[in-house]
Amino acid sequence: MNVATIKYYDIANGPGVRVSLYVSGCRNRCKGCFNKETWDFDYGTPFTEETQDAIIKGMEPSFIKGFSLLGGDPFEPENQAALVDFMERLRAAYPSKTVWAYTGYDFEQDLLTGKKGDINVTMRLLKCIDVLVDGRFVENLKNPNLLFRGSSNQRIILVGQSLERDEVVRLVTFTDRLYIRAFNESDEDALFGILGDAETMRYVEPAFDRQKTARFLRDFCIAEGKALAVEERESGRLAGYIMAKPSGEGRYELGWIFHRDYREKGYAYEAVNAVIDHIFNELGVFEVTASALEENEPSVRLMLRLGMKLSDTEREGGSRLMVYSKDKGNK
Ligand code: SF4
Repeated sequence: MNVATIKYYDIANGPGVRVSLYVSGCRNRCKGCFNKETWDFDYGTPFTEETQDAIIKGMEPSFIKGFSLLGGDPFEPENQAALVDFMERLRAAYPSKTVWAYTGYDFEQDLLTGKKGDINVTMRLLKCIDVLVDGRFVENLKNPNLLFRGSSNQRIILVGQSLERDEVVRLVTFTDRLYIRAFNESDEDALFGILGDAETMRYVEPAFDRQKTARFLRDFCIAEGKALAVEERESGRLAGYIMAKPSGEGRYELGWIFHRDYREKGYAYEAVNAVIDHIFNELGVFEVTASALEENEPSVRLMLRLGMKLSDTEREGGSRLMVYSKDKGNK
């Protein structure tokens, strides 16, 4: 295998400052590819022992947050074979730094089926990767505002969680402590732990029973995609639920419910703030709104902390519903 480029201080291909390895060789030939020279498997210089040692050394400083593997395409069969031992070495040397990888191939259709070389090698390589951005670059879906990817068809996949659950776990955005991702069927128990808790639900509606939670997860969260799961990165636990749904042209309505273990520790602020950034930057939205009963002081405080302003009040039973909003210009 040949190496097209190595960047020792890269900030464009994953969170934080990273070491990035661009391998040579790609058969995807995406229209509008900005790395055409790397299609050629002979482009660049050989991936020698010295090169590998230099990368491992380059990962040492504490400000290097992780490693990114790009191309070309690292999942071309010959590239997988050349990379797998090195990636296992890197993973063992830096277990707490994140590994991101990019491929033009499809995670389920091409990689998990063994279509791209020896499935054992593919699985070993995937087990070294935390986050995989998959799918070809599609020029007419190009959006420079997207998080760490070129076109909106490309998915950001949490690889370990996807392999463990046997379903694709799609990342939407993240913070230092949290992954904010799409919901999956396997979230039912954990979601019930939040929505089934009467104390947690006291300002929202009566606690959900099992059946209602399952229906809500299946229809609202997954099929309609109107909610996001907030997962604590360290433990993999579901910390909270964030509703994020269109409410008119250029507008989104937000709501949130967090597990009682994750209250008063800044998780809700961290997660909702990241979701607002995602909505403003990636979805072309110019206003978000959220509401809470007046007596729900923690939520009202959070809306203010998020920079939202009171825009309306409505009577709801014997109480007042406070509606707050924030527009993109007030970020
Ligand atoms: S997969 Fe990447 S390197 Fe290969 S053609 Fe597509 S954009 Fe270019």
